[in-house]
Amino acid sequence: MEVTSAFKRRGLLFVLSSPSGAGKSTIARMLLATDDGIAMSISATTRPIRPSEEDGRDYHFVDDATFDTMVAKGDFLEWAHVFGHRYGTLKSEVLKVIESGRDVLLDIDWQGTQQLKQVDPDIVRVFILPPSLAELERRLRARGTDSEEVIGRRMERAAAEMSHWAEYDYVLINNSAEKCRELVHNILKAERLKATRRVFLHDFVRELIG
Ligand code: 5GP
Repeated sequence: MEVTSAFKRRGLLFVLSSPSGAGKSTIARMLLATDDGIAMSISATTRPIRPSEEDGRDYHFVDDATFDTMVAKGDFLEWAHVFGHRYGTLKSEVLKVIESGRDVLLDIDWQGTQQLKQVDPDIVRVFILPPSLAELERRLRARGTDSEEVIGRRMERAAAEMSHWAEYDYVLINNSAEKCRELVHNILKAERLKATRRVFLHDFVRELIG
């Protein structure tokens, strides 16, 4: 048996959720930099672009009418209202990553995670909690990108988001970004080894035991 075909397995959908400001984007970035077997699904959103962001890299920024058309065409695996804007996972993005032979990293909220679980029960769900509410607020302010009103709403929303922690397969507390990145990576590596995903094992073991 060829080594390449021996190690084929199904790509997995790896979901990271957290209240905004809990450090999820940093951890996602660090994970992508450490492991080239996983790539980000870039969502579409109607939220205005921030100065540090780039269209097509952080999100596909679209207007309301375009988002409506995409919903009508069935372009989304899931979509949800978050902070008064709409965000959605594009089927085309997920397919592109899976077809490249990599796992898919999704930075989506609890509503999207619930919908995705219906589409693919095999998804891996990781929830990241901030070490404290005070730290969460400090991180939101340190960004310096959002107005007081938006920060206030994000703090309210954080409590709602965190109430869904028990719907996830893994829950981490982000005391240190590097430590948390390492734990997320460990989860990913262990999930990749799960017997159910390693479809090649049927043939491999058949050969081993003759
Ligand atoms: P932000 O505006 O700070 O980039 O993201 C706000 C929230 O929207 C984050 O909690 C993020 O996880 C969520 N989000 C981003 N993309 C998607 C998506 O495609 N679907 C869903 N359901 N939530 C998303």
